[in-house]
Amino acid sequence: MKIPFVDLKAQYRNLKPQIDDSIASVINETAFIGGKYVSNFEESFANLYGVKNCISVANGTDSLFIIMKMLGIKEGDEVITVANSWISSSETISLTGAKVRFVDVELDYYSIDTNNIEAVINEKTRAIIVVHLYGQVCDMEKILGITKRYNLFLIEDCAQSHFSEFKQKYAGTFGIAGSFSFFPGKNLGAYGDAGAIITNDDELALKCRMFARHGALIKHQHQIEGINSRMDSIQAAILSVKLPFILDWTAKRREAANLYCEKLVNIDEVILPKVRADSKHSYHLFVIRVKRRAELQLYLLEQGIETLVHYPKPLPFLEAYKYLGHSHDDFPIVRILQDEILSLPIYPELTVEQIDYICNHIKIFYGK
Ligand SMILES: *Cc1c(COP(=O)(O)O)cnc(C)c1O
Repeated sequence: MKIPFVDLKAQYRNLKPQIDDSIASVINETAFIGGKYVSNFEESFANLYGVKNCISVANGTDSLFIIMKMLGIKEGDEVITVANSWISSSETISLTGAKVRFVDVELDYYSIDTNNIEAVINEKTRAIIVVHLYGQVCDMEKILGITKRYNLFLIEDCAQSHFSEFKQKYAGTFGIAGSFSFFPGKNLGAYGDAGAIITNDDELALKCRMFARHGALIKHQHQIEGINSRMDSIQAAILSVKLPFILDWTAKRREAANLYCEKLVNIDEVILPKVRADSKHSYHLFVIRVKRRAELQLYLLEQGIETLVHYPKPLPFLEAYKYLGHSHDDFPIVRILQDEILSLPIYPELTVEQIDYICNHIKIFYGK
């Protein structure tokens, strides 16, 4: 059996006529930039989230940058984010001119450790970017307590947490704005780069839209200098085909995760992911902690099973952040996770047989 880490072809096969039609329509109408395909997707995405505004952008990195820039975050400011994430969560902070302040994760849930946030807050701190990494929602109650107490903007990086929930409220709707990526491998994926911002703040929405469209809401009426960050109409048309399926796909990811957990329970060498109380994980990634990871990965690969590590090196330990002068002791938890985390294949189309095959080989590897 061959089990790829993600199988985007399986999803395409199921939706081929609709997707092909949507692409053909955009081309036939030569409606490549802007227009109804983009505005329809923005409206449907905002409606599904129950928010007032959705601004489509070119990718999930731009969305973070645009939000911060339009909140007025600039040189001299500091923004807090988490030590384990994709680099977009921190590089966009630096891009505004502000300084990145990293916080370690909690061992149980792999998300920002709320007990360590206040230690890095000072008079320069303007915002916290929380990352609902792997699809697990951060402890929003504690985080909202902190952002209110210190009057900080809360920005949610939801690139891995489409339709994750905390107390029956979607991740991305707790802070001033939610940032989404539709990179092909994300839970809702385009056929290229795409991203979006959601917010209930009308003024921020208007500013973000303007900034992402060269500073002009009406052609040639540039009120500010901006950037060019638009979602292509082809991507919007494809995402509109996929959007009606996202809640079903999310449910299927949860079923796959539950099955993994049932089959891998009681193996001493394997620590299964925990789900935060009162929350719903969206399992962008199914991440376990294991002993002898390199050997296990190699063994699984020999059996045709692809696995990955998210991420091999925590952000503060990357060459890009050497200038911050951090040592491993500054982030003891991500230091532990770095050597133990392993992402197993997960997607809505993953079959019971495939999960069985993967789990059986993990058991065989540990002599169970
Ligand atoms: C994928 C991802 C991003 C960036 O999204 P792009 O669309 O690739 O720019 C940002 N943050 C996290 C946590 C991600 O996983």
